[in-house]
Amino acid sequence: MAPRIFTSSYPSVPLLTRSIFTHLLSVDQNSGKIGGYPAQDAVFVDAYSGTSITRQNLRALSLKFGYGLRQDSRVKAKRGDVLLVYSPNSLAYPVYVLGVLAAGMRCTLANSAYTARELQHQYTDSGATMIITTPENLNTALEMLTKGLGLSQLEAEKRLIVSPKDFGWVTGSVAMSTSGTTSARQSVEFQQLLEQGELEIEEQIEGDDAQETALLCYSSGTTGQPKGVETTHQNLTTAVETIDLVLGYKPGDQLLIFLPLYHIYGIVSGLLFPIFCGTTTVIMPRFDLIEFCVAVERYRITAVLVVPPVVLAIARHPVIDKYDLSSIWLLFSSAAPVSPTLMKEAKNRLMAKRKPEQILHITEGYGMTECSPASHILPLEHAVSKRGSVGVLLPNYQARLITDDSGDTVVDAAEGKPGELWVRGPSVMKGYLNNPTANKNSFTSDRWYKTGDICVRDKEGFYYIVDRKKELIKYKEVPPAELESVLITHPEIADAAAIGVQSESEMTELPRAYVVHSQPSKISTPQSKKMFEKSVAAWMESKVAKHKYLRGGVVVIAEIPRSAAGKILRRDLRALAERDPIQS
Ligand code: AMP
Repeated sequence: MAPRIFTSSYPSVPLLTRSIFTHLLSVDQNSGKIGGYPAQDAVFVDAYSGTSITRQNLRALSLKFGYGLRQDSRVKAKRGDVLLVYSPNSLAYPVYVLGVLAAGMRCTLANSAYTARELQHQYTDSGATMIITTPENLNTALEMLTKGLGLSQLEAEKRLIVSPKDFGWVTGSVAMSTSGTTSARQSVEFQQLLEQGELEIEEQIEGDDAQETALLCYSSGTTGQPKGVETTHQNLTTAVETIDLVLGYKPGDQLLIFLPLYHIYGIVSGLLFPIFCGTTTVIMPRFDLIEFCVAVERYRITAVLVVPPVVLAIARHPVIDKYDLSSIWLLFSSAAPVSPTLMKEAKNRLMAKRKPEQILHITEGYGMTECSPASHILPLEHAVSKRGSVGVLLPNYQARLITDDSGDTVVDAAEGKPGELWVRGPSVMKGYLNNPTANKNSFTSDRWYKTGDICVRDKEGFYYIVDRKKELIKYKEVPPAELESVLITHPEIADAAAIGVQSESEMTELPRAYVVHSQPSKISTPQSKKMFEKSVAAWMESKVAKHKYLRGGVVVIAEIPRSAAGKILRRDLRALAERDPIQS
């Protein structure tokens, strides 16, 4: 049987052979515009201080940082060298990344909350030679280099570039000493690297060199340890071009970004793509509901990238009513499943304080680190009619849905039936760094990438993520995301997560739900809590098929553990469940 291959209905974009830096920040000699937009426009703003960087400034600072990286005798980086960024979101983040790219180096972005042990894996695996970090992360970086790698204090310090906490360096007005105030006196000061000169032009990437790696984000993929995802210049230029066709921000948009910039969703959709679109992006270090509302009011934010817990907060948290969020026209959710009910609630809540003619789109996209990051987006015109779908294939993408690839022939799902989503296209990563086994398991010989997500495609070409292959509860393959989307509609449940818990008497996993009560004071006694848990299990029996009943129990907890990118940390729930087995 011929394979069932689905192709994007959008026209393909041409593949470019230039660096992502050149694509975003080239100067037009006639107009003086940078990347097609006025050089003096603010491109990034620090949410708290209000300090901003213009396009011209961003370009110049990146070229200066690039120069310092290549020329400073303590760094002397070469094309292709890897610099590890270990920093929370800040106004400096775009300069770190674009400076590294301007120098023709590769940039690996580490979770700023990593412990020394986690950091060590990424540092050694990526082959990084230097780390850029901030005073707050400095000690962990030093601990990793000394205790983890066994370097002397002096040698460890020499591998660090330390960036100041404030942004005096943006204007060059404040010569901040960073290392002088820390315990790392041999480290290089970021400020010093900016003062030595400026690359005349960024490192040129031409022809086949567009396949050179630009970013190395770390992802577990479908299994195992975090792996270095090789995202090339061409992956990135294609990503910005294709996302733009489906979800352009408009010049003049004020975007708010609090998603972690070390994650592919943050770095591409919240940092590189906005430069391409001509927006001003307000950067927050992390999500905080009140700070978020304050920033939306202060900067009249028009577009926000979110993850499902933020949609949940917007839909249900009482504090939302105290602020004017009416400037937002676009709320874009991705990274994890979000229930259509919540999307609708969030929209109704925000619309309640607006005139009906004011536009608000709440839509969704789907992707992964390996797709740089998106393969699907739900176009705005379908955001309501196809709510619950992650959208359509982005330009240049192809997809297959596979029910079985264990034998010699690969079996495609019948129309409308679920299968594992395989994708192919020019923004799919080059591969996992130095990991032939993972590459063999994730790619077919004809470059299909196996996402590990179970998906259904409707007749009009809209895709629905049903679940993740490895997360299905091993009891007739119950998808936890489906149980969660039902649980969240319960009037007294604020958040929910489901996992499979082993039943010794039935020798199988059974579905269990962890739920957060919307008003915890109502269940303050053990009896009322027990009664609530039982009532939720009974309520579910009126909502789902028998094999999905919560026979593994319902447990109230204070908060669902989630990663900074909004994903439910099921392994933490599994650890909880181990201490609380099913009572037979
Ligand atoms: P990451 O590489 O960390 O971005 O994780 C990618 C995974 O996140 C995907 O393989 C999906 O399992 C999940 N994911 C991303 N976006 C969505 C979405 N809109 N709905 C459901 N799951 C999603």
